[in-house]
Amino acid sequence: MLIGYRGTGKSSIGKALSRMTGQGYLDTDQLIEDVTGKKISQIFESEGEAGFREIEQHVIARIPSDAGIISTGGGAVIRPVNVRMLRMNSLVILLNTSPEVIFNRIHKSDRPSLTGLSPREEIEQVLKERMPIYRSVADIVIDTTITTPEEAAKQILNLIENGICVPDKRKELFASVMKTAIPSGEKIHLKKISGDYDIFLYGILGYPCMHSKSPGIYNHLFADYGMPAHYTWFEHKDPGRFLSLLPGTGVRGLSVTIPHKETVIPYLDEIKHDAESIGAVNTILIQDDKKYGFNTDWKGIYRPLEGTHGDTAVILGAGGAAAAAVYAVSMRGFTPVILNRTPERAEHLARKSGAEIGTLADIGKYHPDLLINATPIGMGSDPHTPIPPSALEPGMKVFDLVYTPRDTPLLQAALASGCSVIPGTEMFIHQLAEQFRILTGIETPISRLREILA
Ligand code: NAP
Repeated sequence: MLIGYRGTGKSSIGKALSRMTGQGYLDTDQLIEDVTGKKISQIFESEGEAGFREIEQHVIARIPSDAGIISTGGGAVIRPVNVRMLRMNSLVILLNTSPEVIFNRIHKSDRPSLTGLSPREEIEQVLKERMPIYRSVADIVIDTTITTPEEAAKQILNLIENGICVPDKRKELFASVMKTAIPSGEKIHLKKISGDYDIFLYGILGYPCMHSKSPGIYNHLFADYGMPAHYTWFEHKDPGRFLSLLPGTGVRGLSVTIPHKETVIPYLDEIKHDAESIGAVNTILIQDDKKYGFNTDWKGIYRPLEGTHGDTAVILGAGGAAAAAVYAVSMRGFTPVILNRTPERAEHLARKSGAEIGTLADIGKYHPDLLINATPIGMGSDPHTPIPPSALEPGMKVFDLVYTPRDTPLLQAALASGCSVIPGTEMFIHQLAEQFRILTGIETPISRLREILA
């Protein structure tokens, strides 16, 4: 599947690939014109962009699975539902070039404007908006600035034949993973796929990180969507050294966990503004050897709070999860209060957010509408609650970010006190859904994640 802006060479390279391989070729824009009997420009004129996207979605949903080589309209992957269908059992190639080259190639076309801006400005703006989506969806990027369609097609076929990684680099990475405490089943699996150089790799980077449930969930999702990919544990002490091992290995994405969420930041090429505000990265997308940092933890707190209203939100703890919680509750319109064991750490977090601070013993001063536990208290077999149950009041909403066990001592006490509760599994599921979207372009239903986790 070829994706990218208009003028990046999708049709000509698609046709060249079809000639070289003898496979069928299909262009979604052409298909739309055939089905409707109208030119794309006429559809935009009569139905507007929204109407066009509806028709496009309808047409994409009916593409047979053995269609061969497909090139898509520049905006086709904006709709996640299209991505899910197009990605199934496909290799996705992003064709890319500069806005200037695109302008020179398409300025004489009869396509109507999407934005009302001048053609040059429109290319720059729409590319800026779409590039993060293109990056997430694409497996491989090919620069088409100076290549002929045949050269680009040869480059693609070469990747398909010889794999997406440098074998020695991949071997070196596998050897270092084998030395860690990965489960024996995982060792056997890695041995089995060690010569499959067309498999993309993903993993969790942390120290320690063997407790993570992410590998099981991701590998289920890759199977669901027919993706040639495997997710494993990357337990490594030094994030900078680990990232330096990656070029040429075919690693496409990482989840990042303790203690690397902050220390990994200097090694990234770009970091999204929300991750920068929070000061922590839990997701790294690797595309074309560039590393892009994101924070999906805050979305994992923000989304389960849909429909929760109030004035004060008390956050217990001042680490990475607390920083995401402060950001999430602020986005929901709450005034955050940070209560932490070590006052200096609370002060540090409050400097960014302007939140009021105190220690856990100060809980009695506040009668919050929302209470979030971002400490590990209550995890595993720990029977403690981070605050005395007497501080829990009827009508309060209590969100415990600890997710093992699901019914933590704090949540049990909150229910007994007439509070409503949100378990930490909700954060885990929602942050993972957002992370999967960033790393693959696919929006997976939350119900599927609940099913896998169960
Ligand atoms: P972190 O950066 O290490 O911060 C831990 C915080 O908890 C610190 O503020 C620390 O206080 C406080 N704390 C630790 N032990 C304590 C104790 N015995 N008494 C009082 N305070 C204590 O960890 P994090 O990454 O923010 O994670 C915090 C918790 O959030 C984790 O345990 C995890 O269960 C949960 N979490 C859940 C998800 C999810 O998807 N549901 C995702 C991320 C994290 P000091 O500053 O005084 O050391």
